[in-house]
Amino acid sequence: MSAKSLSIPDICDCRQGCGACCIAPSIVTPFVGMPEGKPAGVFCVHLDEDFRCRLYGSPERPSFCVSLKPSLEMCGRNREEAMEYLAQLEKWTSPRETSETVDQKFEV
Ligand code: SF4
Repeated sequence: MSAKSLSIPDICDCRQGCGACCIAPSIVTPFVGMPEGKPAGVFCVHLDEDFRCRLYGSPERPSFCVSLKPSLEMCGRNREEAMEYLAQLEKWTSPRETSETVDQKFEV
């Protein structure tokens, strides 16, 4: 199996069909396909139809993504809890966002 064909559920305990951490957070550094970075609440262009990362295992995958590891705290019991947690985290940590602009992007 080549590194390019690996997907998140193959290697770790990510919830299949979730993708919350590829939607909710902002990625402030430019990366392939998203030269301005990724705004909070926007689907990453590299998410496939099954919510898997097409860049998994590639050196082009952003370091932010590599650093994220699944945990009960972040992932919760379901996708909705993960989106809610990550939206809250975005409010606490993003200098570009206000609570109001984040709330407008998430239906949590
Ligand atoms: S590059 Fe991959 S892991 Fe990072 S946000 Fe996009 S789909 Fe998710």
